[in-house]
Amino acid sequence: MAAKYADVIIDISHEKVDRPFQYIIPQELSDAVYPGVRVHVPFGGGDRDKIGYVIDLSDEPNYPVDKLKTITAVDDKGITAEGNQIQIAYWLKRQYGSTMIAALKTVIPVKQKLKQLEKKKVTRCLLPEELLQAAQICSKKHQAAKARTLYALSQEEVLPYELLRQKLNVSSATLQSLEKQGYLKIETESLYRNPVKHMDGSENRVVLSDVQKNIIEEIVGDYKEGNPGTYLLHGVTGSGKTEVYLGIIEQMVAMGKQAIVLIPEIALTYQTLLRFYKRFGDRVSVMNSTLSQGEKYDQIRRAKDGEIDVIIGPRSALFTPFSNLGIIVVDEEHESSYKSESMPKYHARETAVRIAAMHQASVVLGSATPSLEAYYRAKRGEYKLYEMTNRHGASVLPDVYTVDLREELKKGNRSVFSRKLHELIAQRLKAGEQTILFLNRRGYAGFVSCRECGHVMKCPHCDVSLSEHRSGMLICHYCGYEEVRRGKCPECGSKYLLGFKAGTEQIEEAVHKEFPSARVLRMDADTTRTKDSYEKILSAFADEKADILVGTQMIVKGHDFPNVTLVGILAADLSLNQNDYRAGERTFQLVTQAAGRAGRGDKPGEVVIQTYQPEHYSIVHAAKQDYRGFYEEEITYRDFMNYPPAAHMLAVLIISRNQEDGETLGKKMTDLVNDRYVNDGKYSRTIQLIGPTEAAVGKINDMYRHIFYAKHENYQVLVEIKDMLEAFCKEQEMKNQTVQYDFDPINTY
Ligand code: ADP
Ligand code: ZN
Ligand code: ZN
Repeated sequence: MAAKYADVIIDISHEKVDRPFQYIIPQELSDAVYPGVRVHVPFGGGDRDKIGYVIDLSDEPNYPVDKLKTITAVDDKGITAEGNQIQIAYWLKRQYGSTMIAALKTVIPVKQKLKQLEKKKVTRCLLPEELLQAAQICSKKHQAAKARTLYALSQEEVLPYELLRQKLNVSSATLQSLEKQGYLKIETESLYRNPVKHMDGSENRVVLSDVQKNIIEEIVGDYKEGNPGTYLLHGVTGSGKTEVYLGIIEQMVAMGKQAIVLIPEIALTYQTLLRFYKRFGDRVSVMNSTLSQGEKYDQIRRAKDGEIDVIIGPRSALFTPFSNLGIIVVDEEHESSYKSESMPKYHARETAVRIAAMHQASVVLGSATPSLEAYYRAKRGEYKLYEMTNRHGASVLPDVYTVDLREELKKGNRSVFSRKLHELIAQRLKAGEQTILFLNRRGYAGFVSCRECGHVMKCPHCDVSLSEHRSGMLICHYCGYEEVRRGKCPECGSKYLLGFKAGTEQIEEAVHKEFPSARVLRMDADTTRTKDSYEKILSAFADEKADILVGTQMIVKGHDFPNVTLVGILAADLSLNQNDYRAGERTFQLVTQAAGRAGRGDKPGEVVIQTYQPEHYSIVHAAKQDYRGFYEEEITYRDFMNYPPAAHMLAVLIISRNQEDGETLGKKMTDLVNDRYVNDGKYSRTIQLIGPTEAAVGKINDMYRHIFYAKHENYQVLVEIKDMLEAFCKEQEMKNQTVQYDFDPINTY
């Protein structure tokens, strides 16, 4: 049945998206009016004719019908760029659950008054050899930032000021001092022109391998034949994926098409950006979180006006309004940062596929450890899969030792370092080579395991680990099952049934104690609070100001450290015992990537994986860098348990001021789903309802959190359920309560 009422925004100048007006849709226009369409409406006291955008439809009026005016006509100029954005927002709202306003704000950045943009560039004043010499002198004097700058300028005649400041982490004082010394000059241009040269020849083009050429030709070929598709490039870091992206985009740009390149913020490094600047010069632009709203808005305007062809950025760059989009690249597609944590909780990978479909564009996904979702679709033929197996250059895969921590305990070793790891660290210190110690802190959710046999306390119904609560109970955060915390292991009777409590600080202390001469840097959420501190720690380590870097998952991305020849993964199973179904996948990814940090230069690397569960398939396959082996076991588990991607899962989070209200609403909502979808036989066998129960984090800011899950193989069935629940909540008097929806969740609630 066609909707009867439409919400219309008169002036989509972005400040006003909060103020839609409702109009009646006349019968004869009912097929022509949908979100994104421009319509003529009578507006204001004099009923002047105005043009507005339809943003939403409904069957019920929000005001007395006699107060509503009627849409006069549909504008016949077709869908505009704004119309496209509204359509995407509407899709986000339907597909992921949120208000239309929240969805619009996700897609359309807020317009703000812009100062005249000033952009600076830095040009070298000496010959490259002279700068190189100066860089070496600075390096000896431990003036690392100066050395970095001089080195960069010996390679490039001109560089954007921002690239030096943000990505090479050089202070403006340092740049001024170098200017005074006559090495470089800083110039300001009122209109930003990207200064990196990109004339043919200035970029040292690699000769593409046959594999790379083939992939590029096939993807571009499909596109030219009018068959745009989605492609998954599975290849280890360094296998040449970025060269493939560059090659495809180059041909797209030559055809007058535009490209969006998504790269997680943490991987937007100087080196990567420079490659794009060099290839596309003026026509490329970067969007990242350090840009102000005004700067972001300016990027969007430049894209709309056709001033750029390529935009690079994290998740939000996806919504750049190009008029001739040809390709979207999603690099490191498995990254959890591609999923939005606020409403609408969209996934950039799925949204990219949708946006590409609207533009008849192609999508290229790339990863060394593809998400189960992407690989599953590739295997089912929805995506085309390319495997890139070899690394370019000399670097080889490291030697991996898996150490069983249960054995260490038996031998009386209570240290956080196994004997093997201890021995290898000592060797590195002697040889003047660097070590990375990686602690996977995400798993710090209070799981309990046996130190003798490795047994983990798990929920008998959900196959996820139980969390220890201060009350002394072990609780399942999926279904609410609970049991009393025992003193002895139910498996072997050992009394070493313990929660895991080591943090990065303890590791740092242990290093100081066992290797007093070692210089240590630590990187975790505490040491990277301030802006720039992340890049600072990484560049200090790259400059070999420390022998050992201790850190959380932050350290597995980004920079290359050629002098790192040892990686120690201190407790690989920490993330395994997270209480959610993605734990195995996350562990495999983290261990594989951490291991990949060793031996990037010409020296061979070694990796020590310490674990209580050396036999777990995530660890076994990560040690062998065997993605397919891991995938086969993991997908069997997902399939058996009906977890994504084998089925789909909707999480409904209820946030309430009052605990009982949360419980009651959860009960009412699940009853409703049971009534309409389970008991009446419609989906009685195929739908699974779990909960409601208190969420893993039961209270945040004095607001109580309750959660339930619905699983079904068909995503649209879950959307239907969400729509029904939304309608139900609209009728309730929801005081001090909100409901959030999350499809195929990545986070545990
Ligand atoms: P990935 O994106 O998979 O990490 P890159 O495209 O960044 O891989 O390639 C890694 C390194 O190998 C880069 O320095 C790149 O210039 C180089 N490289 C890639 N392809 C080739 C090639 N065909 N010949 C020579 N070097 C290459
Ligand atoms: Zn035991
Ligand atoms: Zn359970």
